[in-house]
Amino acid sequence: MPHIALQAQQTEAVQVRNIFCIGRNYAAHIAELGNRPEEDPVVFIKPTSALHLPGTPIVLPKHSSDVHYEAELVLLIGQGGKNITEDKALKHIAGYGLGLDLTARDLQATAKKGGLPWAIAKGFDCAATVSPFVSAEHIQNPTCIEFEMHLNGQVRQRGDIRKMLFPIPFIVRYLSEVFTLQEGDIIFTGTPEGVGSLTHGDTVRLVLPGHIDTEFEVFDSLN
Ligand code: ZN
Repeated sequence: MPHIALQAQQTEAVQVRNIFCIGRNYAAHIAELGNRPEEDPVVFIKPTSALHLPGTPIVLPKHSSDVHYEAELVLLIGQGGKNITEDKALKHIAGYGLGLDLTARDLQATAKKGGLPWAIAKGFDCAATVSPFVSAEHIQNPTCIEFEMHLNGQVRQRGDIRKMLFPIPFIVRYLSEVFTLQEGDIIFTGTPEGVGSLTHGDTVRLVLPGHIDTEFEVFDSLN
């Protein structure tokens, strides 16, 4: 089972439990995919086998010919809970990281057309790629976090969580009303505009200024 350690902390690494993802959380990204904003957040889950930590390349799956990057802020739940209120939500977050919600856009398009689940489009190995996590106490203002995703040296995505349609306290409250959140759960919070395809030989860099700067190489699957 994969574990996540918080940067600059002497505490033990936590075992990752559920991987929750929020879709359609930034208006400009909804528009670029031709989707409509929802009244409630789109929620999906990835298997823990999809988790991929820094140190080895992203390996693209064979079953897709169009894997997109979606750079997102990722929350690490510390203290779990059920029916967490929005005013208490930030206290349940142990750390903040960046991640790539890798998406087989070709398979997702087919699934959407048939009204079918997204598991093979979003749950393959490496589909939940994450940076190191920063302890929440090092994030001075968790209501205004900005991040960047660079592809081969060029900025492709800029995230500003003030533009989220469903802000972090809402997400934690909403998920905790449906699922019991547990220590070690991680939550992908949705991607801003600028998504695009990854190909063999690409380098992806995720930056949370002052806290995270991590790179991943991208390889095709060998077998
Ligand atoms: Zn996403």
